[in-house]
Amino acid sequence: MSKNFETQAVRIQTERSQFSEHSTPLFLTSSFVFDDAEDMRASFAEEKQRNLYSRFSNPNTTEFVDKIVAMEGAEAGYAFATGMGAVFSTFAALLSAGDHIVSSRSVFGSTHSLFTKYLPKWNIETSYFKVNELDKVESLIQPNTKILYAESPTNPAVDILDLEALSQIAKKYNLLLVIDNCFATPYLQNPIKFGADLVIHSATKLIDGQGRVLGGVTVGKVELIKEIYLFSRNTGPAMSPFNAWVLSKSLETLAVRVDKHCENALKVAQFLEAHAAVNFVKYPFLPSHPQYEVAKKQMRLGGNIVAFEIKGGIEAGRKFLNKIKLCSLSANLGDSRTIVTHPASTTHSKLSEEDRLEVGITDGLVRSSIGLEFVDDVIKDLKQALEV
Ligand SMILES: *Cc1c(COP(=O)(O)O)cnc(C)c1O
Repeated sequence: MSKNFETQAVRIQTERSQFSEHSTPLFLTSSFVFDDAEDMRASFAEEKQRNLYSRFSNPNTTEFVDKIVAMEGAEAGYAFATGMGAVFSTFAALLSAGDHIVSSRSVFGSTHSLFTKYLPKWNIETSYFKVNELDKVESLIQPNTKILYAESPTNPAVDILDLEALSQIAKKYNLLLVIDNCFATPYLQNPIKFGADLVIHSATKLIDGQGRVLGGVTVGKVELIKEIYLFSRNTGPAMSPFNAWVLSKSLETLAVRVDKHCENALKVAQFLEAHAAVNFVKYPFLPSHPQYEVAKKQMRLGGNIVAFEIKGGIEAGRKFLNKIKLCSLSANLGDSRTIVTHPASTTHSKLSEEDRLEVGITDGLVRSSIGLEFVDDVIKDLKQALEV
């Protein structure tokens, strides 16, 4: 198989059936049949690699996972029902009571809840560093630290973390470096190239790309994935064959879609940066981004998320949302439809102002996920919504 991204995305396929289908069919089956007693015995003894039961594997999920593994330069992977299924199962499979995590403070909201509410139930604690304080990471490491965790770009403030720098720290202290690569997709950034041990995706976002199905995946070193697979095979967070079929089809167009998303997002970011009602814009491929050089080093393009701060704080943010006509107000991102959210009055309203500021959420911050509409139409909508 060619190593080129687009060719792998289109050509990695499950074996054809007797019907010689061109497009991979949907294998809606919970289990698989055996030829005889010996076949069944050998299959359960794992002497042969074959599908037994769709909680373990299914041709559709295998095709989806094989593509992500190839795209990320990983050795193996496992697909989950959601991105959070992937995040939780990865921690649960690899950590024991008394272990410790060091994580970037800027992580997805549910991941933060996992660290603060649920993992502590099993005596697993997390220490945090700020995105601009990588020099403090080493001081947080304890003898029981097992995992170094980060997202880049971060949700929702679009900060960038230097993956190579994190990997050097992880190697020095023998930690596993786990990266949530959701905002970048396997097309824009491959954390394994910079030293990550495991890469997690919420496939719900740009990998689906059309706001239809939920999904998640973890890929990386084979011995780590084996632990994650065995844990998941017994606990049941598997991706459904239908979602895997949809997502594998989506991957065929990932490169062309994401190229266009990034082209549109850059134009929107440039428009917003020049607008008088906007205090600042955060987009990884704008030279004004604080980690522009790092973004250029580790990403192919800047992604589709543009964060910007409207002058006038919370009230101005709410007013802006109310004036939006074409774009959607929705919690999703990475959809073909442009979506705008105002974290301070919605997803992060329960946090104190101090906690919000710590993760880069100022009162007037808007997160926009730029879609595939004709970009001038999106800009026109944002422009009229910014008028006071
Ligand atoms: C959405 C998201 C998740 C969770 O994914 P789900 O599929 O919604 O469970 C995890 N990490 C990041 C960065 C996300 O944006």
